[in-house]
Amino acid sequence: MINVMIEKLRILIAFINARYFVRFDKIKQEKLYAKQASFLCKNSAFYSSGEFPLMNKKLLMENFDSINTVGLTKETALSFAIDCERTREFNKKLHGVTVGLSSGTSGHRGVFLVSDAERALWAGTILAKTLPRGKLFGHKIAFFMRANSELYETVSSRFIQFEFFDLEVDMSAHLKGLEDFQPTILVAPPSALLKIAKESHLRPMKVISIAEVLEARDAVKISDGLGVSVVHQIYQCTEGFLAATCEYGTLHLNEEVCHIEKEWLDERRFIPIVSDLKRRAEPIMNYRLNDILMVKSESCPCGNKALALEKIEGRQDDMFIFNGLNGGNVEIFPDFIRRCLLFSDEIEDYRVVQNSRRELDVLADNLSETTCAQVQMEINKLARDRAFIAPNINFKVYEHTNNKKLRRIESHVER
Ligand SMILES: [Zn+2]
Repeated sequence: MINVMIEKLRILIAFINARYFVRFDKIKQEKLYAKQASFLCKNSAFYSSGEFPLMNKKLLMENFDSINTVGLTKETALSFAIDCERTREFNKKLHGVTVGLSSGTSGHRGVFLVSDAERALWAGTILAKTLPRGKLFGHKIAFFMRANSELYETVSSRFIQFEFFDLEVDMSAHLKGLEDFQPTILVAPPSALLKIAKESHLRPMKVISIAEVLEARDAVKISDGLGVSVVHQIYQCTEGFLAATCEYGTLHLNEEVCHIEKEWLDERRFIPIVSDLKRRAEPIMNYRLNDILMVKSESCPCGNKALALEKIEGRQDDMFIFNGLNGGNVEIFPDFIRRCLLFSDEIEDYRVVQNSRRELDVLADNLSETTCAQVQMEINKLARDRAFIAPNINFKVYEHTNNKKLRRIESHVER
């Protein structure tokens, strides 16, 4: 009981700070960075020299024991997390921290640690960035996720109601419950939002897309179907809370808490290298993510100085690789593949999967002969423009899968 009260208070403080006080500025960020560096120097064996080498999931897992500051070994943390998962008891703690499992993209199971203070900061910040201006209380938030968390129950109160909807369950089974709940804020991956927009009569005040790439065309369908002017986004992963949409509809990096370096891919696209300046149980420093972000060229009128993003384009390892006409590799950004399909109004749902350099699977609904010929033509044109050997295309019927993240552009080619 007392713990729940402390947690609520912490969330409230984080909320007030993030909503009304903390604004990104370079000098404050540098101070935070110095403070974090000095803490890690003293408390993390791995960082005791004060150097922060480039980090990724594999390195983080390999050096887990010496990186974390709460004295846990990977074996202990893993077996504890698996045990929590099996018994579905997610509120147990080890050395004072919550231990979670993360599904690595490479198939390896990872483990992550979050302290109570870090969780409260996260929850308070998310609420501060998402609760609409002008109406703070009385919201009903419908949350579509893969696993529930007692955190939402902690946040739940007289002022805010949370309702969790399990994404593993078929969406049609949720529609009635959703209509009964009448959420004012709807949070879900775009694939679920599309279905809700199509099949329900909901009129939420705010719609927030999470966990999957939000494509421009899908965003229009979602906002039309649900009667909102903007589909907001929250961009986060186990490595932290990285960006959220402001009231003007611009996606801003969470530079109040994260220091983000850019590995440029072209003039506007970059891979973020993140240092979370608040995470201490399991520090995230100089961590290279697997995402391609695109900078927005105009500044945002909201006054937030944190970097504005045009979009999250996709995962870096979903870049397509083809054989160049003059040898070598030619890498193609997901957006260019997307464009080869989006000219057609017939195609509503689609996926493009690259299994080898010579072949693409195009899965789509409403594939007429004309559409197939057009897609083939667009791909051939791209191949000519970018000087790679045009792949063969296998056209297949698009099938909806409920049980995994929707990736419309997906590559499995060895890099
Ligand atoms: Zn803004």
